[in-house]
Amino acid sequence: MSAQLIDGKAIAQKVREEVAAQVAKRSAAGKRQPTLATVLVGDRPDSAAYVASKGKACAELGMGSISQHLPADATQEQVESLVRQLNADPKVSGILVQLPMPAHINEERVLALISIEKDVDGFSPLNIGRLAQKGREPLFVPCTPYGCIYLLEQAGVKIEGANAVVLGRSNIVGMPAALLLISRNATVTVCHSRTRDMAAVVRQADILIAAIGKTEMVRGDWIKPGAAVIDVGINSVPDATKKSGHRLVGDVNFEEAKEVAGFITPVPGGVGPMTIAMLMKNTLRAAEIQEP
Ligand code: NDP
Repeated sequence: MSAQLIDGKAIAQKVREEVAAQVAKRSAAGKRQPTLATVLVGDRPDSAAYVASKGKACAELGMGSISQHLPADATQEQVESLVRQLNADPKVSGILVQLPMPAHINEERVLALISIEKDVDGFSPLNIGRLAQKGREPLFVPCTPYGCIYLLEQAGVKIEGANAVVLGRSNIVGMPAALLLISRNATVTVCHSRTRDMAAVVRQADILIAAIGKTEMVRGDWIKPGAAVIDVGINSVPDATKKSGHRLVGDVNFEEAKEVAGFITPVPGGVGPMTIAMLMKNTLRAAEIQEP
């Protein structure tokens, strides 16, 4: 293996420790406990598990959490009224509405209602708009792309002036990742399902962020020698040697890419652990904005 492994688990743990230390410092100074409110609508088991793990992370770091659960048939008005109530509640530092919501709920309207000062997921149009504008600063950056950039910075990868390629243009990963790279002065190309000859584009990349959800689609011979590869993809493949019968792999063929890349994140243990760590960092930041 020639690439240096970027250990997301260890870097996420360091972020968590730093957040916990700041939380304790604020508490010793008599300040309000940073508190995350989660909103879950419906009964998707994966969403329920994500919300539970966020509550657990809050407890581990000395932060508070409030978990709000509405039934799958909740109305748009009920969801919006809950978000308004959380916006007005001074005990709540940050609000996270777990996506996806049931199909009859207009997610865009719900996200737009979250107060910009409590938008710890960074999905409100105000935060995304600020991220997209030159010279403007969002209050919060979406957690997964924030984690990707943080990993690059911690690994010492130079972003300024680099050719960066982002695979995927979703609202939650690809697009904000591209905007973040531009704001850090990279030259950015975004690929998606209509891109012609993606391999040729990827071969130009000094930095590659892959977020397409396609099992090991990026092959080793697509990677520019020495490139930094951040693999966001989480794909499940059958594996008879595992008790669960499956294992997780990324969008990049790790075994091939690690022989060519300069830096690479594993799956699991790369970007995955960063997402919740950055959510905790954002929740602390929300508390600091509301009560400096
Ligand atoms: P989406 O399905 O919302 O978006 C996928 C993007 O990839 C789209 O822009 C789509 O293009 C593009 N795409 C799909 N197929 C191809 C293809 N064959 N060639 C080129 N582009 C393609 O996914 P997400 O952004 O939500 O997630 C992406 C991956 O990241 C998933 O594996 C997901 O599990 C993982 N993930 C991991 C997180 C973590 O914490 N580590 C957090 C969030 C996601 P188009 O726009 O044209 O449809």
